[in-house]
Amino acid sequence: MRPRRRLLWAALLLLVLALLGVLVFLAAEYEEVRDQSALEADAEALSSDIRSALVRNVQTLQSLYSIAASPGAWTAPAGEVLAEHREMVRLEWRDNSRALIAHRDTPYLADLFSYLDRSQALPDMRQACDNAQRSSGPSYSPSYFWPMNGGLGLELMDMCLPVVRNGKPAGFLVVTYSLPGLLAELGNRTLLRGRGLAFVDTDGTRLALHSSVTGSRRTQTARALLDLPGHTLVLRLESPRLGTGAAFGLLPNVLTAVVGALSLALLAVLGLLGRDMRLRQRAEHELGDALAFRKAMENSLVTGLRARDMSGRITYVNPAFCQMVGLPPEQLIGTGLPAPWWPPELVDEYQQRMAVRLAGQTLPREGYESVFQRSDGTRFPVLIIEAPLIDAQGSQTGYMSAILDLTEQRRVEELNRASQERLQATARLATVGEMASLLSHELNQPLAAIASYASGTLNLLDEPPEAHGPALPQGELRQAMQRIGEQAERAGRVIKSVADFVRRREQVREAVAPASLIDAILPLLDLQAKKQGIRVQTQITPGCPPVLCDRTMVEQVLLNLARNGVQAMPPDDPPAASGLRVLTLAVSRTRLIASDDDEEAAASGSRPRKVWVEFAVTDHGHGLSEAVRQQLFTPFFTTKAEGMGLGLSLCRTVIEQHGGALTHEPALPRGTVFRFTLPAA
Ligand code: ADP
Repeated sequence: MRPRRRLLWAALLLLVLALLGVLVFLAAEYEEVRDQSALEADAEALSSDIRSALVRNVQTLQSLYSIAASPGAWTAPAGEVLAEHREMVRLEWRDNSRALIAHRDTPYLADLFSYLDRSQALPDMRQACDNAQRSSGPSYSPSYFWPMNGGLGLELMDMCLPVVRNGKPAGFLVVTYSLPGLLAELGNRTLLRGRGLAFVDTDGTRLALHSSVTGSRRTQTARALLDLPGHTLVLRLESPRLGTGAAFGLLPNVLTAVVGALSLALLAVLGLLGRDMRLRQRAEHELGDALAFRKAMENSLVTGLRARDMSGRITYVNPAFCQMVGLPPEQLIGTGLPAPWWPPELVDEYQQRMAVRLAGQTLPREGYESVFQRSDGTRFPVLIIEAPLIDAQGSQTGYMSAILDLTEQRRVEELNRASQERLQATARLATVGEMASLLSHELNQPLAAIASYASGTLNLLDEPPEAHGPALPQGELRQAMQRIGEQAERAGRVIKSVADFVRRREQVREAVAPASLIDAILPLLDLQAKKQGIRVQTQITPGCPPVLCDRTMVEQVLLNLARNGVQAMPPDDPPAASGLRVLTLAVSRTRLIASDDDEEAAASGSRPRKVWVEFAVTDHGHGLSEAVRQQLFTPFFTTKAEGMGLGLSLCRTVIEQHGGALTHEPALPRGTVFRFTLPAA
């Protein structure tokens, strides 16, 4: 394509150049022809000027003869005529036999006949007079060169006019004209400005010159015949060629100049057009590149792209979108509502959604979730983010949507949830493992008590009657049995609390009184606390509302925090004497935690304030060092030999799942307070 375009351009340039060349040539030619014909007309005019002047001269001579009939009276008026007519150099009056009667010479050229005698020119004169006699009118002789002193000379010409007196021929009047004089005196001066004027022979030899063209190499020439009776002269008018003669110089003719200027302008426009074309071509190229880049980008996207016009018809889809819904672009583009990927049972809902959107509702920036159907009928969740399509004029032409397939994300979320649950179960089991030793220790007590009551009872039963009388001591036996029962119950409670805790239950949120949560963990907590000489103290603010929670999970949180507190107070730290070996579990109703929803609700005056319940577990142990604080919630971070490091991270997850928050701060005078909040039911 490109070489062809270049060829076309070259052809255009060539044609334009040729056209311009021809135009300039024609213009120059036209001007030349025009100038030539003007020159020829001028030459004709000059020649007729001279001819009529010569005719006038004939009349002058005739009147001269009629006023002066005698030779004596003739000379004076003849002198006047010569003084008046510089073109005449001599006047003669000759008789019928051509003999001189009288003559007069011009006063302007005194020595004209001093170098050569007049008699030398007589043959020419005679011939002219013979002709004049035959025609009874003026007749001119051929011109002849008349040499003068100092190598100079003049081209002369005689005119013979027969005169008649009383009806009889009375001789001839002969006037000798100087040809240069004819040119100088009889020509119209205004026609001559800057031009050269001369008489030439028929073969082109110059006979007499009036003026010549100077300083110009090229001239235009026009010839005109000056037809006189008896002789014909050729008048040559020369004009400097202003046109092409100077075209290579600085002064072209107007037309040529205009055509030249137009040609230059045309070339300039051509150049500009070429430049514009080049720019356009470059822009086209860049546009093509940008388009290819965009195309590659769209094709490599995993996000589906879809454009709709204002009526909801699909105008564009990218490959990712086609892959998502399993349909080729041809089956998608141009389709209207309901869209081919809408699950049939949701069409009504989606239609409504579209209607709302087309009515000009603003689209949520974060997008909305939806469900699409593939061509094979399977459904998949998607996130759709829409933006208005604005054209170059700034008006909206439709919507552009980016569509994310959420299938994979959902799968990962599900996996995460499952593994979180497994992790929690594992953590519970680990806790159980830890407690097993404590349990065995604690169960020892009731079991030992049961054993000793049982052996005491047996002893009573085995004693001989003389030791206790004929009847068995009923009271003692009853008491022993009661103790056995109590101890067995206690052991059962210990075991049940562990079993309850470990058993994995469905996650259900229920309204639970805070006191019952604490009661549930107290037996287990007491086991460890008592062993370390720690007093467990509970403070429940009266009127505390029940909390909405998953009971087992929250119990585990409480137990974890409480056990951490106990473990932070090893024997003698703090010493028993300080009176600080106390672990406090406190519950209070707390101020509202402002969230956006609440603020809006409060502002609107409906005031459905959310009430929160705060749990605080306070120990007076060694507290948290900076390093520990940094990693407190990192899973598997622990400072304990038998610790798992999962407790706090699980606690936080659980609390946050309930919408609450887990925080900690130093306690006074020493130790740490862990607080968490739960929503009131
Ligand atoms: P574990 O108890 O298995 O170590 P946790 O996540 O419950 O795991 O606790 C992580 C670490 O945080 C503990 O090892 C301990 O160093 C520190 N810690 C937790 N609670 C307290 C507390 N009340 N006082 C001091 N240190 C604590």
